[in-house]
Amino acid sequence: MKIAIMGAMYEEITPLLEFFKTYETIEYANNRYYKASYQGLELIIAYSKIGKVNASLTASTLIEKFGAEKLLFSGVAGALNPALKVGDLVVATRLAQHDVDISAFGHPFGYIPEGCVYVQTDETLVHIAHRVAKAQGLKLVEGIIATGDQFICDSTKKEWIRSTFQADATEMEGASVAVVCDALHVPFCVFRAISDAADMDAGFSFDEFLVSSAQESAKLILAMLDELKR
Ligand code: SAH
Repeated sequence: MKIAIMGAMYEEITPLLEFFKTYETIEYANNRYYKASYQGLELIIAYSKIGKVNASLTASTLIEKFGAEKLLFSGVAGALNPALKVGDLVVATRLAQHDVDISAFGHPFGYIPEGCVYVQTDETLVHIAHRVAKAQGLKLVEGIIATGDQFICDSTKKEWIRSTFQADATEMEGASVAVVCDALHVPFCVFRAISDAADMDAGFSFDEFLVSSAQESAKLILAMLDELKR
């Protein structure tokens, strides 16, 4: 089986590349894609660069050019749910684009005609993630993720996203990857470890915890692969 593992930033896939050690690098569409194999699984790994447009291009490429049959996203996010602290792991059940606004026409925030506000992740992958996290002693919570092309570092904006989308965490790629995977019928899942609280200190917190939180998320991805190879 061919599995895509995707991050947004270099730091989010580095723990995986360091783990696999040997991989082939392919340059395509202003980006690098890394082919590796792990216990019979073919892996294709990439970081998209930040934001929904880059993430859509990378997810589409992973599927259409490299033939990924499942996609796992690994990265960091800002917490909207006050129960989530730095380092906590979230698996998305559904994702929405918080910066889509055609409410002037009476549509709900996040809604695009012929689409829907939320895209659901693959139930089987979420189920496997829970089993794996439990076996590894990792705390994993399910949540709604709200995605937009903005680094959220403001309490008022944060509360608006939380209350409008009932979202638990916010980031800048997940929902666009979800739209691509959903349209191309590729089962996918988005994992995020909390790097900050999306408040006025978010920038400092992000800089301090990006690497350690990205490692937490990557750890879960590796454990998922052990399960998926069966
Ligand atoms: N420091 C980086 C920019 C990071 S943008 C630079 O200067 O290049 C934040 C990244 O982490 C995005 O990929 C996003 O998905 C995620 N993220 C973490 N916390 C976030 C927050 N509070 N709001 C939005 N995205 C966040």
